[in-house]
Amino acid sequence: MALANHLKTKLTSLLARSLVARPARLAGHKPVASITFDDFPKNAWTLGGPVLAHHGVRGTYYTAGGFCGRTVDGAAFYDEGDLTSLAAAGHEIGCHGFAHQPTPSLTDDELAADATRNRQFLQPFLNGGAPVSYAFPFGRVSPRTKRFYASRFKSARGSHCGINIGRVDLAQLNVVSLETRCWNEKAIEADIQRVLHSHGWLILYTHDISDTPSRYGSTPAMLDWALGRVAAARIEVLPVHEALAVALGL
Ligand SMILES: [Zn+2]
Repeated sequence: MALANHLKTKLTSLLARSLVARPARLAGHKPVASITFDDFPKNAWTLGGPVLAHHGVRGTYYTAGGFCGRTVDGAAFYDEGDLTSLAAAGHEIGCHGFAHQPTPSLTDDELAADATRNRQFLQPFLNGGAPVSYAFPFGRVSPRTKRFYASRFKSARGSHCGINIGRVDLAQLNVVSLETRCWNEKAIEADIQRVLHSHGWLILYTHDISDTPSRYGSTPAMLDWALGRVAAARIEVLPVHEALAVALGL
């Protein structure tokens, strides 16, 4: 049964990738990069924020409202004060669903309710506005849920490894992971060089930032190294919604 479920998940994921829900061609005027944090653990702001400030860049924090003020499995998540601070510093607050559930497991009605709940939660931190950038919890997408989000956000980010060049799907943008579980400096540097030369869009992502990170997080030194390599390539780093405009040549 576990194998059947695993195969079903794999197939759904493959089908979703083959469905281009928001086709776009990047303008290719210049390369651009974004640094993004998912969920997000409190230290992505308290320890990650200073690293971003050191490099003079702003990031995107994909926020799941259900994690606010909570500690889950020993991991402390952001609170409302963190959202206020990072918004004031010019970082972007993106949407990561409220209950942080894999989207294929929810009906359309449940997806709509979850999206509304997260929008209402985030509104006070967005001057009454709505988030425009979305990231799929766990990167889990089905063709149905991809279509659902394609029409509701300017961009949706998955967790499929890769850079964004030429023809892309704005409903499932690729990422380059900075997580300890797949940390590879050579591969990251190669991706930076490809983005530089092809004028693509590099979207970096991680979760917690700590000297003892989880498998899904990074140390401050790893984050600093990656942003240093992007800076050395003279690629501008912008929050996702601003980088989107640059990438599309708007
Ligand atoms: Zn997540």
